[in-house]
Amino acid sequence: MELENGSELRRSVTVRRTWKDFRAGSFPEDSIYGLRWDCVSGGVQEASPQFFLYGYVSCDDMTDGEIAHSCMHGMGPHIIKVCVLKKDNPDIYDELIDGLGPKPKFMPWKRCEAKKKSGEICGCRTRTRDVIGGQVEYRCRRHYTR
Ligand SMILES: [Zn+2]
Ligand SMILES: [Zn+2]
Repeated sequence: MELENGSELRRSVTVRRTWKDFRAGSFPEDSIYGLRWDCVSGGVQEASPQFFLYGYVSCDDMTDGEIAHSCMHGMGPHIIKVCVLKKDNPDIYDELIDGLGPKPKFMPWKRCEAKKKSGEICGCRTRTRDVIGGQVEYRCRRHYTR
């Protein structure tokens, strides 16, 4: 980390892996990219009922704190998807969302796409995405595979 100007500290963004994760880490403001409204977290692909601001960071850019990421799997650094909450970033949030357009409304309910033994599609209301054979499908709690 280097300061361009000794009198001006680099601003940082506080992020979490999901909107309800209690762990938070800080990254330099300019190290986060790909900001967008989204409702599925990275890692465990947890869907939220509401849209939040998400972006991508490289795990080795973290300057402080702790997030739910382990560098165990494979060579780092890893690009990870992170959630940026307004309450964590009150001073710069408006600048971060500048240009993104309005936040989408609540995520609509989807139908569970699991096939029952009878061959029928389950059809339960759900907002949970699952990854099955590399494909993203919606799954109700009963048919969620992970
Ligand atoms: Zn890592
Ligand atoms: Zn189901």
